[in-house]
This record gives sequence, structure tokens and C-alpha cells, in this order.
Amino acid sequence: MTATQEQRTTEELKALAERAGRELEDASALEILQWAAESFGSRFCVTSSMEDAVVAHLASRALPGVDVVFLDTGYHFPETIGTRDAVEAVMDVNVITLTPRQSVAEQDAEYGPRLHDRDPDLCCALRKVKPLEEGLAGYLAWATGLRRDESETRANTPVVGWDEKRRKVKISPIAKWSQEDVQTYVAEHGVLTNPLLMDGYASVGCAPCTRRVLEGEDARAGRWAGRSKTECGLHG
Ligand code: SF4
Repeated sequence: MTATQEQRTTEELKALAERAGRELEDASALEILQWAAESFGSRFCVTSSMEDAVVAHLASRALPGVDVVFLDTGYHFPETIGTRDAVEAVMDVNVITLTPRQSVAEQDAEYGPRLHDRDPDLCCALRKVKPLEEGLAGYLAWATGLRRDESETRANTPVVGWDEKRRKVKISPIAKWSQEDVQTYVAEHGVLTNPLLMDGYASVGCAPCTRRVLEGEDARAGRWAGRSKTECGLHG
């Protein structure tokens, strides 16, 4: 493929994403994922933090055997790894686990221990952003579980948009859902959820950077609590 063709393809993808964002704003989550399955086939994947398997479940209805990409940072709660294993065992999906280039021990040796306390942006860059960038290289489109009601930084999330950083179509099929919508879907379909959600956690990330939320706090208040950091860089 020549550079011109590559450029045109990227421009076409971007136009496709922006048009779909407008046209699918009022579509259901399943309809949005059916559009993604028809548009991209096996070059479409779902990313999951294994907080719950709602988007993976929806995507498997649209595209049985869909790739579900999970980032194993080396810092996850055992419950998160257990949720990943359960999803792999019982759902019609293909779980792909991405790992950083360095183990936690290797990172500690190079940067010093507890980098997440001293420079969480660098830690996230090494353990999340870079592995995801490499893991998504073969896909044209990826789906996330971002919701507008999770935080102010996510309030304008389009259901389909253009990920300029990775030059891919980014799909957020449950962007318009509330927490109640998620709970209803989980109950209706018996979807797997991370046990930590029953233990005071509203959003589940790496263990050193996640705490339980207090009453009245938004769902992501327990992530990097006490710091100005609110996102890991995957969605910037
Ligand atoms: S969430 Fe915390 S432990 Fe996980 S990669 Fe980011 S800084 Fe490191």
C-alpha cells in the first residue's frame, strides 16, 4: 500500500467515524456494535478492564468470538484477574492479554520501586498506554466501556469517534448509559462482574491506585485519589 493510499484510507476511516457518531447517536448499544461488526469484522476489538463484562457481552452478541483485549499491568487485584479468567471460560469471546515490556520487578530495578506513587503518568505510559498502542496495531476499530456519566472528563464521549492518537475508530456503545442501565443489563443477562464492585469499589483499576468510593463521590473518585490525575492516558 502506498503512502497516498494509506493516507486516504485513514481519512476515509476518520470520515466514517465522524458520520457514524452523528448517525448512531440515538442507536442502541447493540446496534452500534452490530454496525462495528459489519464495518470492521475481525479488525474490530473490545478493550476491557474487567470491571465488568457488559461491553464484551454486547459485542459477543454482535460478533461471536470477538477479540477482547485486556491489559495486565502486573498491578491488578486478584479479583480482576479472576474476572478475566471467568470471562475467557464462559463467554463467546477471544480474550487477548497484553503485558508491558517490563515486569514490575524489572521496572522497579530501572526506575525505583513504587513508580506509581512518584510518577503515575510515566507508570501508566509504560504499563498501559504503550502496550495498548502495540496491541491495537492490527485493528481498525476498538470499543470501550466509557460512559458520559462517569466523570466530567467523559461527559462528551461520542458513541463513535475518531481516536486521533492511534488513528483508529473508537466506539463507546454504552456512552449514554447510566449506572442503573449497566446494573439492569447485568441482571437481565447474568453478565460477569468484578467482585470488588460488591465491596465498595465503583471503578476498578490497578490496586495501588484504586480505593473504595465514599457516598456521594462520582464513580471514578477512587482512582488516583488525592492526585490531580483522573485518566490513565488510554482515552486522552
Ligand atoms: S494505574 Fe497506577 S499502577 Fe497502574 S499503570 Fe497507572 S500508575 Fe501504574
